Amino acid sequence: MRIALVDASPLKSITLYPLPLLKLGAWRKSLGDECVIFSGKLPTLGAFDEIWLTTRFTYDIPFAVGMAKAARERAGRVWVGGISATLLPEYFEREGLEVHRGLLPDAEKFSPDYSLLSERPAYSISHTSRGCIRKCGFCMVSKLEPTFKNRDGWENDLHPSTHKVLFYDNNWLAKELEDFRADVDKLRGLVADGRITKIDFNQGLDARLVTDEIANLLQGLPIKPVRFAFDGMHEDGHYQRAVEMMAARGFREFMTYVLYNFKDTPKDFYYRLRESVRLTQELPVNYVGSFPMRYQPILEADRGRSFVGKHWTTTAKKGFMNILQIQSLSGQVTCAGGHFDSKLQEFEYWFGKTADEFDRLLSYPHIRDLMKRKKGALRMRRARGFGITPTRLG
Ligand code: SF4
Repeated sequence: MRIALVDASPLKSITLYPLPLLKLGAWRKSLGDECVIFSGKLPTLGAFDEIWLTTRFTYDIPFAVGMAKAARERAGRVWVGGISATLLPEYFEREGLEVHRGLLPDAEKFSPDYSLLSERPAYSISHTSRGCIRKCGFCMVSKLEPTFKNRDGWENDLHPSTHKVLFYDNNWLAKELEDFRADVDKLRGLVADGRITKIDFNQGLDARLVTDEIANLLQGLPIKPVRFAFDGMHEDGHYQRAVEMMAARGFREFMTYVLYNFKDTPKDFYYRLRESVRLTQELPVNYVGSFPMRYQPILEADRGRSFVGKHWTTTAKKGFMNILQIQSLSGQVTCAGGHFDSKLQEFEYWFGKTADEFDRLLSYPHIRDLMKRKKGALRMRRARGFGITPTRLG
């Protein structure tokens, strides 16, 4: 049988290899099927017997539904699965589409078949565990992978020619210590053999679970960057302590997911962003960057992403996006401090000297113009080689 495996997301949403399709392909090829992956597009009419689609973000459901309906015209059977189809199957089923919910145990047993990619892989992808021990209100992992379990044999997922590995574990540190030690031993062996030179726990490590024992075990592993989350004030203290413990063991690059527009206030969001800059300034690290993540209700197909958190306003959300877009090309907050007296001074130049000032900035009607003027002033100062005197609002 010929099966088209389709990543049913707009191309701009597809930034990493489609792990579910690589595993599905491995499974079906083992049964003698012919499989081809398509990203963000469908195969031509009649080229395949079946089309299987995987879905990602719920705000892309209208796109995925449209694609699945169009697929029906092109193959005998269309099957939809993946994250958004599992969370909101009714959007697909009311169009008469066949939906699979959750993981497919048969495919889960297989390692990804990287030969299905159109190019040689630049990195490998694996999970050493599934699920999570927590049920954070903004996260769907407990619905998608309800049971936290260890996964043996993950080293078979590594492609022999890649030296970078992305782990998609939701909460690696939540494992039994014995299982965690076994993973670390395996990683050390792979690093010693030259198989791995860079490790990225892409979904972040749980700062609340970092202890001296855990940090000692991790010491020396090429985890770059170390990713944590500082999603709310419930992690205050835990987060900073985890970064300090890891920095004390020689880790130098950190990237932190920072949730906003959920139950937080703009003022505590300011504090959470500023803490990472403070740590960058005070610790022997290259950077502790922040990756702001705007909360969006997941169990709604809100294509406009218009949700406004209890303590936020539409104006404040847009105000923050304006600051972020102008101060950073990457959507991250990473203050290197160049041409400023300090890294904190750079942060305050863009985001305000205090949480109150940040709060006012977010509602300032000419925020975009103000940020452009600041950027222009910074450029001029840089050209002249001067330091910066932060300007007041307006
Ligand atoms: S710890 Fe992370 S993965 Fe686990 S429920 Fe919370 S946000 Fe989700």
